Amino acid sequence: MSGDASVVHIEGLSRRFGGKTALDGVDLEIPVGTVFGLVGENGAGKTTLIKHILGLLRAQAGSVRVFGRDPVQEPVEVLSRIGYLSEDRDLPDWMTVGEVLRYLRAFYPTWDDSLADDLRRQFELDPKARVKTLSQGQRARTALLAAMAYRPDLLVLDEPSTGLDPIVRRDILTAIIRTVADEGRTVLFSSHLLDEVERMADSIAMIDRGRIVLCGPLSDVKGAHRRVTLRFNQPPARPPVLAGSILSEGFGREWTAVCRGGTEQLARDAATIGAEVVEDDVPSLDEIFVARIRARETVSAEG
Ligand code: ATP
Repeated sequence: MSGDASVVHIEGLSRRFGGKTALDGVDLEIPVGTVFGLVGENGAGKTTLIKHILGLLRAQAGSVRVFGRDPVQEPVEVLSRIGYLSEDRDLPDWMTVGEVLRYLRAFYPTWDDSLADDLRRQFELDPKARVKTLSQGQRARTALLAAMAYRPDLLVLDEPSTGLDPIVRRDILTAIIRTVADEGRTVLFSSHLLDEVERMADSIAMIDRGRIVLCGPLSDVKGAHRRVTLRFNQPPARPPVLAGSILSEGFGREWTAVCRGGTEQLARDAATIGAEVVEDDVPSLDEIFVARIRARETVSAEG
């Protein structure tokens, strides 16, 4: 389905670099007005996916549509509506902060002077400072300002927290992202900070070795999982496995498992293996992510 309600629509996207598969049959739909978090380990394929959305890479297989258009065929139409914070915060070193902003302003008819001034003050940026003299954090703030000040319909942030101190990260970045979504615009950001994704995103996609392994509204993704603590009368001979169990950890009589499934079913399953559920909770996104990666690593090591 590719209705007007989705900003990004990707089907069957695959990408190889030489012998290395970076993306493998990715399907992704990002609805208008969502804050969408892309999570995955280093090298999982997040930046490669973002580069396809920006039309910087051409799909080797599958299709990519942004605002209903092909970003490789129609770069001006697509890119003029996207604000992009790249992983390396590329800015011209020889310009001052003020010059960078004036230069960008000329390209974007929607540039908002008062928003740019507000952000410059919040970020405590000196317009006379030359880019090459900026700290990593000041550079990150300048690049973020530059991506936002023309009020793009889609704001794409590759690891936006990198280089930002905890206050800017927690307060300013979160507020900015919320404001963009409240105005009916869309944010796509990648991050390996799962607590941050959990705080900011409405929907997420988890990418693992080029494949989307989990995708959907954050509440659905979390609601489909449980973290249960099992207590046995006797220590089990091997790690307990419940139906839907992704990973069990523990020792002796007490084990914790991250599982798919509902409370009642898990309690019944636990009883059949001689255990009682003594704690049952919704896991954090971090726990779901770690369980999935560890479970996959265990299978790879055994297989
Ligand atoms: P990180 O969190 O480290 O930025 P990522 O999830 O953004 O990682 P990508 O940068 O998309 O991951 O990389 C996915 C895979 O593709 C990696 O194995 C990477 O080495 C490989 N890759 C990406 N770009 C290229 C390229 N231009 N040439 C060769 N291999 C590449």
